[in-house]
Amino acid sequence: MLPQFNSDYLSGSYRGRFAPSPSGALHFGSLIAALASYLDAKANLGQWLVRMEDIDTPRIVPGAADEILRTLEAYGLHWDGEVVYQSQRHALYQDILAQLNKAGLTYPCSCTRKTLKQRGGFYDNHCRDRQIAPEGNAHRLIQTQPVYSFDDLLQGQVNLPASLAEEDYIVKRRDGLFAYQLVVVVDDIEQKITRVVRGADLLEPTARQISLFNQLGYQAPEYAHVSLAVAQPGFKLSKQNHAPAIDTTKPQPALCAALGFLGLPVPTELHHDSVSNILHWAEQHFSLRALPRHREIQVSLQADGCYDFTGLTA
Ligand code: GLU
Ligand code: ZN
Repeated sequence: MLPQFNSDYLSGSYRGRFAPSPSGALHFGSLIAALASYLDAKANLGQWLVRMEDIDTPRIVPGAADEILRTLEAYGLHWDGEVVYQSQRHALYQDILAQLNKAGLTYPCSCTRKTLKQRGGFYDNHCRDRQIAPEGNAHRLIQTQPVYSFDDLLQGQVNLPASLAEEDYIVKRRDGLFAYQLVVVVDDIEQKITRVVRGADLLEPTARQISLFNQLGYQAPEYAHVSLAVAQPGFKLSKQNHAPAIDTTKPQPALCAALGFLGLPVPTELHHDSVSNILHWAEQHFSLRALPRHREIQVSLQADGCYDFTGLTA
């Protein structure tokens, strides 16, 4: 007889997450990211957390966070624990920023898009030694541990240009908001995330995130960047290119299409079954290793509101 493990042991400490920005409703592209991270968490008997990335207040659409949660529920994607809202964690981010500041690792920067353009289009750590007043300026983090390359579970070895790896990037914006690069790492540490599964549009920023984990003295999680659904090469599905909100009243077609995109073609007899039966089938057949490894896959909207994906781009 096979040894019996209790589920606590089997689940180890896998913790994954889906971290939508409530700047609009969930569309087909975000459903793919949600599903991939959910299925990988289930395959590892792990926890799947949802974190609302509502820190970038100018981009937040009122009501979108609730709508996203209702949509996840309609698609059978039930999360573990309480939803975390970045908008309620300012004290945490401020505390980490103050520690970095105290360690002499941050500095104000007054560069604008225009002045950066005049100096060659990228930030060359220009303000590091300029001792600019903090008021009204952005704050950058001194890059002490540049990451030039990392291994992604799906995309393989990813190499970064030195100029990007060595750049002191913004941790607090000129408008006073905490930058995504800072809060995403603080949250992944605080929520003890062990593996990040998300869209390949976030592949390059991952190097910075790994370096921030190192700078803060934590081990970075594993990363798996799933093929990005694009409307045209280089253009991910978004509100800008009219990706519609996915249907919450009849979730099966988009669910089956998203699973197909992830290399899990749902058997025809299941297409009209319940969402929970379709997901159950997907959980049994999912394997991270079997996901497509293209950076982008071109998809096109069909008359039935679903997506077809035949054009592989990169
Ligand atoms: N909030 C980010 C987005 O919606 C995702 C961040 C992440 O998964 O690290 O693009
Ligand atoms: Zn500057």
